[in-house]
Amino acid sequence: MSDLGRIDGRTKLFGLIATPIGHSLAPAMHNLAFQRMGFNCAYIAFEVGNDELEDVVTGMRALNLKGFNVSMPNKTKIQPLLDEISPAARFIGAVNTVVNENGKLIGHNTDGIGYIGTLTERGVDFVDKKMTLMGAGGAAKAVAIQAALDGVAEISIFNRDVSKATKIADVINKQTNCNVNVYKLDDLDSLKSEITNSDILTNATGVGMKPLEEQSLIPDTSWLRPELVVSDLIYNPRKTELLEQAESVGCKAINGLGMMLWGGSKSFEIWTGKKMPVEYVKKHLF
Ligand code: NAP
Repeated sequence: MSDLGRIDGRTKLFGLIATPIGHSLAPAMHNLAFQRMGFNCAYIAFEVGNDELEDVVTGMRALNLKGFNVSMPNKTKIQPLLDEISPAARFIGAVNTVVNENGKLIGHNTDGIGYIGTLTERGVDFVDKKMTLMGAGGAAKAVAIQAALDGVAEISIFNRDVSKATKIADVINKQTNCNVNVYKLDDLDSLKSEITNSDILTNATGVGMKPLEEQSLIPDTSWLRPELVVSDLIYNPRKTELLEQAESVGCKAINGLGMMLWGGSKSFEIWTGKKMPVEYVKKHLF
């Protein structure tokens, strides 16, 4: 999809450091956008885990890469290797975008912005609403914090490891007007009643993607109702079991593609100072 034939001696290099990485749509998305904008830039995915991270960041500085994305498992571990962290990324405690400003590496986080972007695009009214959020990993934290900052009134977080959910709740309850409560994921009575009282249900766990494809944390579609917006951060597969359940009941069902697109679009803007041609990218990528 990318036009690598245009690479020359002046091409500016961008990248993604993560593992596993083969499934990522980020290279196709950014190369399409660079090409459309006529920028002499290229974006490459690098298979990088925590063990190689420090050497890789040193190498990126030496090669003067203009920017890169960071994904699992490097989003928190990269922070001490950078020169500056944006207030939002510091608040979230994770970095997914790095920009090289005259040799200074500055970390940002666009995951939560991507999530809110996809809700906005799909016409979901989230201000003063209640969300039930399943998961308390890096993506869940970014989603919860951005949702709280952007006006969601109440969030109920369910996770296997409840201590992770409690840490997110403490940050949000202290620093925003949003009210967060936490529950263990296997407390099914609470999960059912919190979903019943929510406007939005969001899955931010790996349940629904490989190796847990065809699984859903919702045991019965009777827990869902047509007015509930159901979103899943997973985009591979495009329609998880949870989204199948949601559609069968008549809910608005939103997969993770939009979050990736709008989060990526914010990264593109941080790197280039220009808006990503989102409609063009959508047309050619999705
Ligand atoms: P992470 O930090 O590793 O967190 C994983 C989360 O999934 C944790 O809450 C974990 O619970 C939970 N989990 C894993 N296996 C589970 C199971 N069998 N049953 C119940 N819960 C389980 O990963 P992440 O970066 O937050 O990613 C989470 C999901 O979001 C992934 O599916 C990822 O693909 C997706 N994502 C999408 C985008 C996008 O742009 N669309 C961006 C980032 C992430 P414990 O804490 O109890 O282990």
